[in-house]
Amino acid sequence: MTEPLILVLDEGTTSTRAMLFTAQGKLQGAAQEQLAQHYPRTGWVEHDAREIWDKTLACARAMVAQAGGAERIAAIGITNQRETVVAWDKARGEPLCRAVVWQDRRTAEFCAELRAAGHEEAVQEKTGLLLDPYFSGTKMRWLLGNDDAVAEAAREGRLALGTVDSWLVWKLTRGRSFITDASNASRTQLLALEGASWDPALCDLLGVPISALPAVVDNAGPLAATHPDLFGAPIPITGMAGDQQAATIGQGCLAPGETKATFGTGAFVLANKGAAIPRSANRLLGTVLHQLGGRRHYALEGSVFVAGSLFQWLRDSLQMIVSAPESEELARSVPDSAGVVVIPALSGLGAPHWRADARAAITGLSFAATRAHVVRAALEAISHQTQDLAAAFAADGAEWTTLRIDGGMSSNDWLAQDLAGLLQVSVVRPDFVETTALGAAMLAALGAGLYGSLAEAAAAMIGSGERFEPGMDDAVRQRRLAGWQAALAKL
Ligand code: ADP
Repeated sequence: MTEPLILVLDEGTTSTRAMLFTAQGKLQGAAQEQLAQHYPRTGWVEHDAREIWDKTLACARAMVAQAGGAERIAAIGITNQRETVVAWDKARGEPLCRAVVWQDRRTAEFCAELRAAGHEEAVQEKTGLLLDPYFSGTKMRWLLGNDDAVAEAAREGRLALGTVDSWLVWKLTRGRSFITDASNASRTQLLALEGASWDPALCDLLGVPISALPAVVDNAGPLAATHPDLFGAPIPITGMAGDQQAATIGQGCLAPGETKATFGTGAFVLANKGAAIPRSANRLLGTVLHQLGGRRHYALEGSVFVAGSLFQWLRDSLQMIVSAPESEELARSVPDSAGVVVIPALSGLGAPHWRADARAAITGLSFAATRAHVVRAALEAISHQTQDLAAAFAADGAEWTTLRIDGGMSSNDWLAQDLAGLLQVSVVRPDFVETTALGAAMLAALGAGLYGSLAEAAAAMIGSGERFEPGMDDAVRQRRLAGWQAALAKL
């Protein structure tokens, strides 16, 4: 018998990819195409949903051919950029306008109006999310109020509004399935964390008709099947999840307290909360991690704006390093930062400080300070920002038991060790860093019945990774924490 293969469709913000995995989580092949970014006005970001579909289909077909035909593929798993809204015509199966991307800020004014009218607390209580243009609901309302084709389709009952997962399944099934998974649905601000389906009061508040929304389904199971004409034979779609949730699963954070941090341009942190609904008093987000057999697990989420981009800035704007990896060598060349503290608030401070007005600072400079000390302090700042998040998570009842790291910056060994020391948790870095795609593959394998549980899928599909254990001298740690707090207080 030939081994079953899993096809993952990974819909990123800047590219679309198709990847082929074995049931043991080994990558067999990948195809990738870049996506055009459209910036029609300041603060607006759009994608062409037709392009997303065309490129997904081309990448998927390349992988089906590599596999030796659709019959060789046991399951499809989908993971996607979250919150981005596609509006399409159910009758023609074509987009009605450009997709509004998660980064788009066009609904900032409407969000401010809702806040001023006193809705934020109730919305946060129900959805776990703050009133911010980031989420899909206000983007949907904007399209209904400002795009004639969308408004007309709504009047005539032809309108479909969905996130990218939903759009792809519609196209993959030629309109037979109109679904979204619970993790994506939980980013729309139209789903209550406890509610099985769309919340009528939230839909009313944001002016989104429930009739235009897809059915909310599990993250794994016999969710849909591709139209036979697309790949020569139908392929079951058995796993779906938003990218950060998929990465959390792909990192094996399956028990409460297990946390993953993705260190790329910024840092995205999700902590597993189990079946407990997350409530934050620290402006962290509560979100659905996964829904299996109708039962939900939740995560608490927080992000910091600046992580790897600090090293791009040190390289390109200050010319203090020649490459981001050089930071590691420089940090190792000195015993400490000589009292230098870097606060990387280059675009304000995100969670848990939420100081949009704050600007970056380098403090504690003396004649003893060299480029190596400043660069070391910059790396230390990444650990401190993460520690501040850890404290906020703990205050919200989500203490981190382990920290699994990924993203481009996670290749920095010095940082991984510093995180373990400062946070006093074990830090684990997987051998295979494509954790988002691996998480989608795990869900698809589970949904296709290749494994009986996510834990079984994790045991078979996730490698052991490299561990960094805490070992920082306590006096040093206390001095570091105090120095960071003192520098923050000066902002
Ligand atoms: P994104 O997915 O957000 O584009 P990546 O996960 O590809 O980001 O990570 C790239 C970022 O990580 C860049 O900002 C880069 O400066 C930073 N980076 C990469 N390697 C290192 C390193 N060894 N040390 C510090 N920063 C690094």
